[in-house]
Amino acid sequence: MLTETKRLLCRDGIWLDRRLGQNQVIDASILKKMIDYAEVTKNDKVLEIGAGVGNLTVMLAEAAGTVTAIERDKKLIRILKERLKGRTNVKVLQGDALEMELPEFNKIVSNLPFSISSRITFKLLGLKFDIAVLMFQKEFAERLVASPGSKNYGRLTVNVYYRAKAELLDEVPPSAFFPQPKVSSAIVRLKPRQPPFEIKDEQLFSRVVRALFQHRNQRVRNALLHSFSEIFPKTKMTKNEIKSFIGSTLPGKFLEARVPELTPEDLGEITNLLTSP
Ligand code: SAH
Repeated sequence: MLTETKRLLCRDGIWLDRRLGQNQVIDASILKKMIDYAEVTKNDKVLEIGAGVGNLTVMLAEAAGTVTAIERDKKLIRILKERLKGRTNVKVLQGDALEMELPEFNKIVSNLPFSISSRITFKLLGLKFDIAVLMFQKEFAERLVASPGSKNYGRLTVNVYYRAKAELLDEVPPSAFFPQPKVSSAIVRLKPRQPPFEIKDEQLFSRVVRALFQHRNQRVRNALLHSFSEIFPKTKMTKNEIKSFIGSTLPGKFLEARVPELTPEDLGEITNLLTSP
């Protein structure tokens, strides 16, 4: 697969740009695993973002009902279109996956450009689908699945947990790519689900989580005090009023906890208690 990838690129005189995240997976066994993890069958409409030279696209085309492959780089689109020419179940779209309206799909399997990991994850989690199997930088993958109290646990973990079950399935070394990235990668599976706890005001939840993790080394009482105006931008309360509001609204077990010790459920409960003062 490395030889084929180099041949395609060489023939068209294309130089891959590591800064654009153009690291192609050249290990077929890893691509096969990603397709298996997504349990792709002929009943599936699969989306692939950042198809590159199409190594994964070709394998998806064999396994899926239909495949829509999105790629931003026009030079790579030429290669993709030619490589997939005879395949009637594949559609190749040129564009920026962050900006465009994504086509209908029920599964997504992608080796994503690392620079858009976070934004594309949240774009996807706003849509309806069954399974996503995605290759991320290992460090990002670890933040998705971190446990409360650990150093990787934070805003990303909590926001994803609310919308999906996340699993880190495999670590992938730089040698599986061409060109090789500097760091290890990991395969992650996301399964969207009903939120595991109830939030009365999702926007408030998002502000509370952001504000608290901005003060991740503090206890909740102080973290809230220091970020109160970000959580409630319209408040006219004085510092003393804020202090007594926080003290009388939240139980001691939350006030004295350190921010990273709060589970997503705790953060949900805190949000529901803090309805607009
Ligand atoms: N899927 C291929 C290639 C992955 S490299 C494989 O597994 O081998 C990531 C690809 O994403 C690159 O080809 C890059 O040009 C493309 N890309 C980068 N940003 C993008 C964006 N915003 N939208 C769509 N594609 C993008």
